[in-house]
Amino acid sequence: MDKRGLKELERISAAAGSRIDYVQGGGGNTSVKLGDGLMAVKASGFKLSQITPEQGFVVVDYERIRHYYENVDLSQDKDFEKESVTLARDSVVEMEGLPVLRPSVEAGFHSILKKYVIHTHPVYANILCCSTEGKDLAERIFKDKAYGCIWIPYINPGFCLTLKIKEEIEKFISETGKFPEVAFMENHGLIVTADSYERAIGLHDEVNDTIIAHFGLYGEYPKLELEALGENEFVSKTGYLNEFFAVRHADAGFFEKYSLYPDQLVYLNSSLSVDGQGNKLNVSSNTGERLYKTNYSEALTIEETLLGYAFVINSVEKCGLRIKTMSERDIDFIKNWESEAYRKSLVKDLTR
Ligand SMILES: [Zn+2]
Repeated sequence: MDKRGLKELERISAAAGSRIDYVQGGGGNTSVKLGDGLMAVKASGFKLSQITPEQGFVVVDYERIRHYYENVDLSQDKDFEKESVTLARDSVVEMEGLPVLRPSVEAGFHSILKKYVIHTHPVYANILCCSTEGKDLAERIFKDKAYGCIWIPYINPGFCLTLKIKEEIEKFISETGKFPEVAFMENHGLIVTADSYERAIGLHDEVNDTIIAHFGLYGEYPKLELEALGENEFVSKTGYLNEFFAVRHADAGFFEKYSLYPDQLVYLNSSLSVDGQGNKLNVSSNTGERLYKTNYSEALTIEETLLGYAFVINSVEKCGLRIKTMSERDIDFIKNWESEAYRKSLVKDLTR
């Protein structure tokens, strides 16, 4: 196996995965194309920081996946979401000494990009991605950069997202003659792709640092603090969140109203109860107290997601922008992702 490629996958994964302002919980994914049409991509259920040359990734036949997206016939009446997930799983190549894992649901778009791919949910890029003015601002802020940037309008993750990215890349190439290395994903996050791992890591920092500099958002990212009360019981002592809840008086409706991106729905909203006691995270809208009733690892994932979410909301407003939320239909898709009939009805819209 391509040992160097796997070491490079570890490097790019650690660069993105060691910072909670870049990825929260199990979010984000990375990949490296190895020789012989193979790609090592983050496995589902792992954190970026857990990837080493021995674990946390799967090897797939990415040319088979790419071929599928290049030739898919949307006029057929079938469940493309399911078909593409099955294809990704069938494309897994068993490697000696490696467990057979499930590839990330985002393996599709990794297949159509350059050799190294870093996909994250950075709080800085998400200031643009979660604001009404973000698309125009991204164009303005990045117009003189040598690397090309594209904007991906919000679309359901999985099959539809890969096709949309492919379409935007082709459009950009036909207009400029070059392959875009940066993609801003509306209500989602950031992708950078490059032909060397150093460039991928450097570009990922550069894009976020450019946004920090543009808005003057200097200063350290808030510290996260959980205090153990007992086994599987933690209280959040994160100062930034104390202030967030003191100012916002966020009730249950707040989190529904401000649905910024899929990971918020999956990791935060579904585990959250405001003024109740029975969920993994219980928030008092009166005092802002946040009590976790789950294991440390899951409490940390939820707290990281909550902190990123609060930071993006505060920053969008601080920068004088308007928050852009997901639509009801987008939210429904995430909540019903497992439902085949539902997915099928939505893919139909793509063929119009
Ligand atoms: Zn993502």
